[in-house]
Amino acid sequence: MPRLGVLGWPVAHSRSPAMHGAALRRTGLDARGWTYQLLPVPPALFDETVRALPATGFVGANVTIPHKEAALALATDATPRARAIGAANTLTFGADGAIHADNTDAPGTIAALPQDLALDGARAIVLGAGGSARAVVWALREAGARTAVWNRSPDRARELAADLDVEALTAIPSGGAELLVNCTAVGLHDPARTFKDLPVNADGLGDFRCIADLVYRQGGTELLLAAGRAGCVVVDGLEILVRQGALSFERWTGTTAPLDAMREGARGPADTRPSP
Ligand code: NDP
Repeated sequence: MPRLGVLGWPVAHSRSPAMHGAALRRTGLDARGWTYQLLPVPPALFDETVRALPATGFVGANVTIPHKEAALALATDATPRARAIGAANTLTFGADGAIHADNTDAPGTIAALPQDLALDGARAIVLGAGGSARAVVWALREAGARTAVWNRSPDRARELAADLDVEALTAIPSGGAELLVNCTAVGLHDPARTFKDLPVNADGLGDFRCIADLVYRQGGTELLLAAGRAGCVVVDGLEILVRQGALSFERWTGTTAPLDAMREGARGPADTRPSP
């Protein structure tokens, strides 16, 4: 019985079991025994837990905070993009004990952006310098965007910019950009702080053609609600979650991911069924 799951600590809030569960049902893979479950694992137990998974039927796993760097470190091989980003969110187990690492956050973010947004040569600004920002900056740069990064702690922005050969910003230039992507955690816990903690204000959002927010909130984040009012094209964190999940799903199962089912699953109530 092929098993899948998401490794994180904490991970109870994850939408991935509901999203992948919906995909397994829509494709009929559930009837062939495929399952997807939460895998709460503290950092000290990460390596030994991952190495034990294949023997219990696991063919792959997603990886979330705080394990993405550790996942890359223990893999026996990794895609060039996972290596360049320095983090993996998708592990695939080979029959021979091999552990393959990939990063689908990067191509998933690009896939979530509007098809008619020509990234080659476009100006893109990324807010944040954590794990997700590294993946998004790398993906935008690979797509040919003139990418710049801002972070609350400027040293981290400078470090990321130097690593990935993009520009570091200490303020957002007037005139905006084609694309703004929020890769900070701002908006997750205290929506009222959004325009206090980010270097943009609601009135200036019209300078951006498209605004994407990795943070997802039911009803929309303050950033995306204001962006919509300013006439920007908006992309929410749930669509980015779905697109990275779809790429992981296809890698594990060899089956085309049912995007609509995954969106419904991710948006619906959390899957609280006990793990099999
Ligand atoms: P990290 O912990 O690696 O990075 C957090 C980032 O947020 C840092 O740049 C940090 O700045 C910044 N930050 C945190 N609090 C504030 C604040 N009050 N004001 C300004 N900046 C702040 O997290 P990730 O990069 O992994 O994730 C970032 C967000 O993206 C999370 O909310 C996560 O849920 C979401 N996410 C969504 C995904 C999706 O598929 N939709 C995928 C991955 C992540 P500093 O360096 O100064 O501390």
